Amino acid sequence: MSRFIPPTARAGAADRAGGAAPLDRFGRPLRDLRISVTDRCNFRCRYCMPREVFGPGFAFLPRDQILSFEEIARVAHVAAGLGVRKVRLTGGEPLLRAELPRLVAMLAAIPDLEVALTTNGSLLASLAAELARAGLGRVTVSLDSLDDGVFRQMNDASFPVRLVLEGIEAAAAAGLAPVKVNAVVRRGVNDHTAVDLARHFHGSGHVLRFIEFMDVGTTNGWQLGEVVPAGELRDAVDAALPLEPVEPSYRGEVARRYRYRDGGGEIGFITSVTQPFCGDCTRSRLSAEGVLYTCLFASSGRDLREPLRSGASDAELTELLRGIWGAREDRYSEERSAATAGLPRVEMSYIGG
Ligand code: SAM
Ligand code: SF4
Ligand code: SF4
Repeated sequence: MSRFIPPTARAGAADRAGGAAPLDRFGRPLRDLRISVTDRCNFRCRYCMPREVFGPGFAFLPRDQILSFEEIARVAHVAAGLGVRKVRLTGGEPLLRAELPRLVAMLAAIPDLEVALTTNGSLLASLAAELARAGLGRVTVSLDSLDDGVFRQMNDASFPVRLVLEGIEAAAAAGLAPVKVNAVVRRGVNDHTAVDLARHFHGSGHVLRFIEFMDVGTTNGWQLGEVVPAGELRDAVDAALPLEPVEPSYRGEVARRYRYRDGGGEIGFITSVTQPFCGDCTRSRLSAEGVLYTCLFASSGRDLREPLRSGASDAELTELLRGIWGAREDRYSEERSAATAGLPRVEMSYIGG
C-alpha cells in the first residue's frame, strides 16, 4: 500500500458563506458532494447488495425518513457556499426516485455547481432527454460486461445488456457526452470479458473506466484475491489496443487516464485498492436519510436531517458542515490492513457510490 502524502495546505479560497473555504486536517478542500437519493435498487449486484442480505425481508428506509428534494437542495446550496463544485446523484439506483428531473433542475439552479449522475442504466433510455433538459451535466453508467450471462452473474438480476447500451446511447444523444461507463472487475467472474468491453467502447466517444472491486460495506464477501489490479487490466487492454498515459485533468481525479494510441479515445482505471488516492480526496457523501459521511468507508456520519427539520438557518448549517469537514482525517484506503478489516462500515448502496 502506498504511503499517505498529505497535499501541501493551500490557503482556503474565500467561500460564498463569507469565510475561508474549509480544509480538512490534511489540507484537502471540500469539492464534491455525492447525494444518495434512495437506498433501493432494482439490481442486486453481488459486490454491492447481495440478495441474501438485501432480500424481500430487508428494511429499506421508510419514505418519511428520506430527505425531500427541498432538503437535499438546501444541503447542496450550503455545501456550494463552502466550495463544493460538483454534486453527483447516486444511490441505490437514483432513477428509481420519482420525479428525479425536478431535483436535477433545483440543483442545476445553484450557481457554479455541476450536476452529475451515476446509474445502472436500466431506466436511462426513457429518462436521458428529460434529465438533460433539467440541467444534468454528466452521466456515468455502470456496466460490468457485454455478455448477458456474465452481467447476470455480477448483478443477480435478469436485465439485458442491450437496454443498458441503449441508455448510454440515449444519454449521448441527449447531449450528456462523453458518457462514462464504470465496470467493476472481479477475478474469476467477469475479468475474462474486460478486454471485450474495451474493444466495444474504443472509438465510441464513451469513456470506459475499470474499477477495482472494493471492500465497501461488510456484506459483499470481499477478498483481496478477487481484486484484479488495475495495472493488470491496463496491460491486458494495452496488448490489444495500445495505450499511452494522459495527465490528470484536475486535482482529485480518481481515474488513471490513458488514451488509445490510434486515436480511439480514452480509458480509465480506478485503483482504489492497489494505489489509493486518499491524499487528493475531496468527496463527501450524503445518505438518503440525510447523514453526511466524509469517507466511503466510514462507520458513522453526522445527521443533517434533524437540524434541517428543526429550523436550522443557512448560517447554522454552514457552520455545521464547516466543522465536520474541518475535523476530517479519513484515509481508509491508505490504511487498509488486517486491522481495518474488522471495523464496521456503512453499505455503499446506503451511502452512495
Ligand atoms: N446504482 C447506481 C450504479 O450502479 O451505477 C449507482 C450507485 S452504485 C453504489 C455506484 C457505483 O459503485 C457503481 O458504479 C458500482 O459499480 C460501484 N460499486 C458498488 N459496489 C462496489 C464495490 N464493492 N467495489 C467497487 N465498486 C463498487
Ligand atoms: Fe444497485 Fe448500483 Fe449497487 Fe448494483 S452497484 S446493486 S446497481 S446500487
Ligand atoms: Fe476518500 Fe475515504 Fe476513499 Fe480515501 S478511502 S479516497 S478518504 S473516500
